[in-house]
Amino acid sequence: MSDLIKKDADFVWHPFTQHETERAPIGIVRAKNASLFAEDGKEILDLISSWWTCLHGHSHPALNEALSEQAEKMAHIMFSGFTHEPAVDLASELAGLLPEDLSRVFYSDNGSTSVEVALKLVYQYWLNQGEGARKVFVAFEGGYHGDTLGAMSVGKGCGFFSLFEDLMCEVETVPFAETWDGDAHVEEREAEALEIIDGLIEARGHELAGIILEPLMQGAGGMRFCRPSFLDAVCERIRDAGGLIVFDEVATGFGRTGSLFAFMQTEFVPDVICLSKGLTAGYMPMSVTVARESLFDAFLGADFSKALPHGHSFTANPLACAVALRSLRLIEEEKTLDKIAHIQERHKSMLPRLHGLEGIACPRVLGTVLACNLSANEGGYKSDTSLALRDWYLAHGLNIRPIGPVIYLMPPYCITDGELESAYEGLIEGIETVVQA
Ligand SMILES: *Cc1c(COP(=O)(O)O)cnc(C)c1O
Repeated sequence: MSDLIKKDADFVWHPFTQHETERAPIGIVRAKNASLFAEDGKEILDLISSWWTCLHGHSHPALNEALSEQAEKMAHIMFSGFTHEPAVDLASELAGLLPEDLSRVFYSDNGSTSVEVALKLVYQYWLNQGEGARKVFVAFEGGYHGDTLGAMSVGKGCGFFSLFEDLMCEVETVPFAETWDGDAHVEEREAEALEIIDGLIEARGHELAGIILEPLMQGAGGMRFCRPSFLDAVCERIRDAGGLIVFDEVATGFGRTGSLFAFMQTEFVPDVICLSKGLTAGYMPMSVTVARESLFDAFLGADFSKALPHGHSFTANPLACAVALRSLRLIEEEKTLDKIAHIQERHKSMLPRLHGLEGIACPRVLGTVLACNLSANEGGYKSDTSLALRDWYLAHGLNIRPIGPVIYLMPPYCITDGELESAYEGLIEGIETVVQA
């Protein structure tokens, strides 16, 4: 055991980790493009983009340069009563990428806080309107929105947080009509879900503050996809009932589902959108909650009472903003959407093989995400099979980390055809060795 790992064992508390049973973590000393390099020199292909944050690849020269240039000017200043070019430029660029009046950018530090901001904003919007306040949020079963209290409340449908139910705010969860390649029953599933949503609206429509959802793809809930038309139907219903629409694109933003933002494949423009993970291309913790200008207007008033009482020490950190801006330019310079389309085509060519694989069900592809389920579907985020698979993949130089019974790849956009090929071969071999054994 290296000194690093010994010290880690003595002093560090890792996320989502049972320290008594978990094997020692792998010490990483360097990362480049799609690869991580361990202390012992071993190369690991990062097929989940370091928890879905890394876009263009690790240690990209242009991003490194943007970061160090900004560090020479200033690393951080408070963002209340002060402003700076990186934050203003990034806000205006994001507003330019988003449709209609989705143009008011609130900065925070991570995906969970971007969701907290969205929830507080929607809740307070109704208070500021001065009508009978709408207090109930709608969320999908299987939805995940982060680990802070408000985010856990709207994410209670993902099942990770039942311990904390007593602390949660009131949320109505409704079924998510998931689908996959070759699914013959999606219409029935959609009709059932819509019927339940109609029932909820009939019973409580006037109380609904709004809905929060991950458009097209539920990430942590298990890479569950739905059809754009289903989302449109759900959002239309909530909007007709007077509720606001929040799209949590923390995971789906910046190309993951094939378009710059997932909602661009739907007919629907939300009232609020949350972005993080890929925002800084995997460099810095930062997020934004972007609201329609018409919502922002509801927070104006002669005194503080209508203002949004929210802010973080590191709000609009200049280093993070600078690297995010550079990443947006890279998306154009490197024709990133073409790369994504190419990865999607390669992924799709794997579908027939996955369909034919014993022990595997529901293969599916959306953008750079290739996913399938263990058909035995033995539950649990950390089931034995899923842990054994994770360890087998790591031992074979692949960072593939199943979510319970769901195995998926979500590579950085710089991944080469050769690397994809070894990922696919490894993916299949792992299933044949661990699952079919
Ligand atoms: C990861 C994630 C979050 C939470 O982001 P953190 O940065 O981990 O707090 C919220 N929503 C979605 C959809 C996510 O995938």
